[in-house]
Amino acid sequence: MTKLVPPHGGGALKPLLLRDDKRAEALERAASLTKVQLSSREVSDVFMLGMGAYTPLSGFMNKADWHSVCVDMKLSNGVFWPIPITASSNADLADIIIIGDDVALIDGENGEVLGIMKVTEKYTIDKALECSNVFRTTDVNHPGVQKVMEQGEVNLAGPVDVLSEGRFPQTYKGLYMLPEQSRAMFVERGWSRVSAFQTRNPMHRSHEYLAKVATEVTDGLFIHQVLGALKPGDIPAEVRTKAIQAMIDNYFVPENVIQAGYPIEMRYGGPREALIHALIRQNFGCSHLIVGRDHAGVGDYYGPYDAQHIFDELWDGALHTAPLKIDITFFCKKCDSIATNKTCPHGDKDRISISGTRQREMLINGEEIPKEFSRPEVIAILREYYSRL
Ligand SMILES: [Zn+2]
Repeated sequence: MTKLVPPHGGGALKPLLLRDDKRAEALERAASLTKVQLSSREVSDVFMLGMGAYTPLSGFMNKADWHSVCVDMKLSNGVFWPIPITASSNADLADIIIIGDDVALIDGENGEVLGIMKVTEKYTIDKALECSNVFRTTDVNHPGVQKVMEQGEVNLAGPVDVLSEGRFPQTYKGLYMLPEQSRAMFVERGWSRVSAFQTRNPMHRSHEYLAKVATEVTDGLFIHQVLGALKPGDIPAEVRTKAIQAMIDNYFVPENVIQAGYPIEMRYGGPREALIHALIRQNFGCSHLIVGRDHAGVGDYYGPYDAQHIFDELWDGALHTAPLKIDITFFCKKCDSIATNKTCPHGDKDRISISGTRQREMLINGEEIPKEFSRPEVIAILREYYSRL
């Protein structure tokens, strides 16, 4: 009998996605409702609510929850929650929405109907308060701050029925996985302690090392990829998946690894985002999340270990999923192995380190990438991708 970590909040998983007849009826009804256009971040949150990744939320947060999450990292009922999940509208539209109305939530980019929300509250927020608490900065050059500052003036709260999974089930067949599906797979394999590895990139030897350390101390590894919007220059998910699979096939025991993806959009919130990544993995059934150096950070907004330290500030019972804190990893020529600052006494000149930018350049120019840095099977796939650009 396996015993996975329970879903967050003390109850069962709470996917908000309607299916079959109920979905068809709701879609028909949505056509006549007031339409609220959502930003890409809000759209990704609808998908996350739909699949149950945000259990126990039942929709977009009201002002009491928003404030309590920003300031105390908990919902107003005391349940741990590190980042506000809110939907916004411009003031003119908010004015015509009456409390108690159902509104249709629309993907602002393609016009798709994503859900119906019963509006229980309309409220304005202090955006600077949100940003300084969640992102530790109000600098609009921070991509997460920018999205908060650009959102509508009025937040709309209420329970949501989700009506779409977007392009994910078709585009990422076999990779897109619901929390109830990953839990079932873990149980089937007899796992109870599972490590999640969050990634937006192909995995090189340093990532492989992190993943293997985690696999050694738990029952299995869940390589969980971000499938939300990408930054220009990022490796597309299809190529990344293939490269990761080549690494699994050649250098892992495949029975001990599951590769999957989920529709989150990065907020680059560093420490607070590391916490929500752990909360989400709890819903997926993972007992541990690998938290490396500068997890979910961007630029120089966070210290390299802030995302690890923030877990120490949580109260007992806040979260069941624990961080596996691992230092930055590299290949050391003197150690003749992958190591970290915790295990290698040598200096920078003995270590092989290649930045993402330099690596791209080397792949495009056909330069050889040292086998200590990346596996040849992985490099072959990336080289092939760059040669097609
Ligand atoms: Zn060394």
